[in-house]
Amino acid sequence: MIYKRSSALFAEAQKVIPGGVNSPVRAFKAVGGDPIFVKEAKGAYLYDEDGNRLIDYINSWGPMILGHAHPPVVDAIIDKAKKGTSFGMPTEIETEIAELAVAMVPNIDKIRFVNSGTEACMSAVRLARGYTGRDKIIKFAGCYHGHSDSFLIQAGSGAVTFGSPNSPGVTKGTAQDTLLAKYNDLQNVESIIRSNKEEIACIIIEPVAGNMGCIPPVKGFLEGLRDLCNANKILLIFDEVMTGFRLAKGGAQELMKVNADIVTFGKVIGGGLPVGAFAARSEIMDYLAPLGPVYQAGTLSGNPLAMSAGLTMLTELNKKSEIFKSLADKTEYLHKGIASVLEEENIVHTINRIGSMISIHFDKDAVVDFDSAVKGDNETFKKFFHGMLDNGIYIAPSAFETWFITDALTYADLDITIAAVKKVAKTL
Ligand SMILES: *Cc1c(COP(=O)(O)O)cnc(C)c1O
Repeated sequence: MIYKRSSALFAEAQKVIPGGVNSPVRAFKAVGGDPIFVKEAKGAYLYDEDGNRLIDYINSWGPMILGHAHPPVVDAIIDKAKKGTSFGMPTEIETEIAELAVAMVPNIDKIRFVNSGTEACMSAVRLARGYTGRDKIIKFAGCYHGHSDSFLIQAGSGAVTFGSPNSPGVTKGTAQDTLLAKYNDLQNVESIIRSNKEEIACIIIEPVAGNMGCIPPVKGFLEGLRDLCNANKILLIFDEVMTGFRLAKGGAQELMKVNADIVTFGKVIGGGLPVGAFAARSEIMDYLAPLGPVYQAGTLSGNPLAMSAGLTMLTELNKKSEIFKSLADKTEYLHKGIASVLEEENIVHTINRIGSMISIHFDKDAVVDFDSAVKGDNETFKKFFHGMLDNGIYIAPSAFETWFITDALTYADLDITIAAVKKVAKTL
């Protein structure tokens, strides 16, 4: 494939944007080469500036669960835009999407909208600290909760891809309030709680980890966290920015049958516009200003364009409840197809999957936490990535990211993908 125009655009971009990108995961630093510049996208396909068509497995890192430029979402945005794009005053649509979200997600009474997943997680932790009167938080190595200071301690996603899981610029004071635990290791969490008695405000976790590849929780892990939180008056925060409205209508809480105290959202909830949200029972949410003492605000929060995209997206997902099963079926089909091809070619691998999330690791051992995720063979991944790209398949340019399956993908697209894996596997 030819990437001439993308490379030229990237050269221009680098002169005025650090690294040429507005979010590090978009750069191809980990895999080498220049990033692809997108011209447009429709359904399951991306069309780049050189006229290549790519089958998309990133889907804007999650939001486009119904495919790109989904007509009802696009129409809703256009309709709203004609009536003004921001007021800084309440609008009816904010209540409509709040009511729908509260109806779809278990165990929440109220929700507040922000502009990104980062903001949602940052605000959720502040709320947990304000509510409990405690300072420390527990996060898990390899989990990503956005780029706010407290979370850049062994963070996943781009932070691990670019070798800065502990970012400079985070003060020692902030870092020491973030206690680091091992994913899927309940005893480790228990011992951290024991040595920080009555100091821990919350445990924040991706209930299915998606930022060190896809790592589902082992049986009993989330239940165990719930019990530990109950016994120690700690709030349990599920960061469902990735899993919310993706794994089920009610997200991971519904699928895993474990309730969190605070839930954060992003990605799908915005239908492709910049939206985040956090939600909880009333007694917790009422701690927020203007009702309560914990301050949180946003000039563009609840923006009408963003709310119309989000409301349309959630309405569609709520209407088509069979969609989560059909996404999971497609993902299983892809998993089986890729696994059988890699086995035929004797490529050492592990595939993790749950719902419409899947990741391929070039390592023979089970990938259950950060340490086992970073152990994979990165050189093989780089070759795999570029091989897939040359065959018209766009996966994340990092071994530490999940592939997202969208409703727009057909079984024919999946077969093309599996055939590409077979071709690329022969070169590994
Ligand atoms: C993407 C992501 C975030 C951050 O969301 P942004 O909108 O990029 O700020 C937080 N948590 C998880 C689990 C994510 O996947």
